[in-house]
Order: sequence, then C-alpha cells, then structure tokens
Amino acid sequence: MKTLREVLKDAEDRRIAVGHFNVSDLVLLRGVFSSARELNVPVLVGVSEGEREFMGVRQIVALVKSLREEHDYPIFLNADHTHSLAKADEAARAGFDAVVFDASSLPFDENVSQTRRTVIALKAINPSVIVEGEIGDIGSGSEIHEKVPERSKTLSTPEEARQFIAATGVDVLAPAVGNMHGLLESMVHGGVKKRLDIGRIDEIKKATGIFMTLHGASGTDDEDLKKAIQVGMTIVHINTELRVAWRHGMETAFAKDPQEIVPYKILPAALEAVKKIVRERLQLFNSTESPERGQQSARA
Ligand SMILES: [Zn+2]
Repeated sequence: MKTLREVLKDAEDRRIAVGHFNVSDLVLLRGVFSSARELNVPVLVGVSEGEREFMGVRQIVALVKSLREEHDYPIFLNADHTHSLAKADEAARAGFDAVVFDASSLPFDENVSQTRRTVIALKAINPSVIVEGEIGDIGSGSEIHEKVPERSKTLSTPEEARQFIAATGVDVLAPAVGNMHGLLESMVHGGVKKRLDIGRIDEIKKATGIFMTLHGASGTDDEDLKKAIQVGMTIVHINTELRVAWRHGMETAFAKDPQEIVPYKILPAALEAVKKIVRERLQLFNSTESPERGQQSARA
C-alpha cells in the first residue's frame, strides 16, 4: 500500500486533491470511510485537539488502523491544528500519520521557531510522519459564525511561504488564501459561498513547490475549489459541512420517531447525511485530473 507521502505525490502530479474530513465519533468515521471506499479514493481523517480529547488519542489511532488493515485501504490519520509541542509529540508517539502544527496566531518569527522545533522533535519520533505548518490567519472554529471573523493579518505571500518552509523544514504548508474556518449563517444553506484567491495559490505553489493544504473549505464555491486544486492545493479540509449534516441527520431521526431510544436505529440517519457530503466532496476533489503538472515535472 502507498504511504501518505506517496499518495500526496500522486495527487499532486495528477492535479487532484486528497479529501481531509474531521471526525469526533464513529458515525463520522464510518461515513468518511464508506464514501471514500465507494469511490475507491485515498482519504485523510482529521482530529483536532478537542476532537481527539473526546475520542481518545490512542483510540482513534486504533480505529483508523483497524480500517486500514482490515480493508487494506489507504486511510490516514492527521492530528489537526495542534498548538503545543506536547500535544504534537503525543500524537506522533501514538502513531498518527500526519500532524498539523499551528502556531499561526503568533508573530511570524515565533511561529517559525516553534514550528522548526516541532518538526525536529516529530521526525525524531517517526521519520516518515508528515508535518504541516501554518502561516497567516484563517480563523479558528469550524462552527457557524454570525459575522465574518476579525482577521488581523493579511493573506500569505509567496516570499513569506518560501522563508517559512526553508526555516522550518515542514512537509506541507497551510497558507491563508481567502479560506476561513467555519461557515457564516448565510452559507449554511448554500446562498453565499466563500471565494479563494486562485492567483495567490498559484504563485505560492510556483515559488515553493511544496504540498499545500486548503483549510476551512466548507462552503467554498465549487469552481474555486477545482481551480485551487488544479493550481496546487493537494489536501482539502472539510469539517463544518459534516457537522451540519451530522446534526441535521440526528434531528431528522428524532423528529421521525420521537419515542425511539435505540442508538443504532437513530444514528443511521446521521451516517447517511455525512456519507452524502463526503461522497460529493470527494467526487469534486477527484474530478480535476490534468496531466499537465506531471508532464511539466518530467520535462524539467
Ligand atoms: Zn483547519
């Protein structure tokens, strides 16, 4: 089976993206896995500090590993938005395939020094772990926001990206390119869409050649997502859309039978709602294939 690094390289060459979906229970994990398997595409499962606190660090590793082994399937686990070396260390030791170290709320130089220290520590634990660093401000919570969150910093620049990568040794970069965590109330039903700065993504990719992750992609315009993937986003994160689907699924089940108390009779409605979103998103992320970049790198 391919390693996560090989899966990312393959996606980069084909100009498609690997879907990353956050989970905080078995309904979400099963939903992500079954839709990925239906489409036969690799998939990344993410757990933030809060999500892994709830599921258990070693428990989520065991669950993902059991799916990977039982089905010989490329499903990988990422420690999303990890804010301290201690939590990153814990995840790497527990067997996570990837860690997002997020010190992006700190001044640039401090972000660089903390990220570099973490990259060194994690590679010492597991040389093949994929470490992602983040620059710029893309907001914090994958929740429903009443208004556009205050964004004090500007979008990421190619120069800043180049400096950050050279100084830290990260494998993957998460830049701020118009993306934002969470959804606005007006986005929940699809009326308003997030828009991305495609030119900036293209410039950063050309300047660095590094794998890049698009965080906070829930509620983004589909055409923008496709273009972002074609110019260099290799991992795309979806969380809030799944949370909305999970909740609506539960509400539908409760409304349908207010007396039902058997969890395995209530939960399938949430499972189906989650599966639908994952299926649609994975279809989109895998629909952008173009051999151009592969040919370019072969010529270079
Ligand atoms: Zn994120």
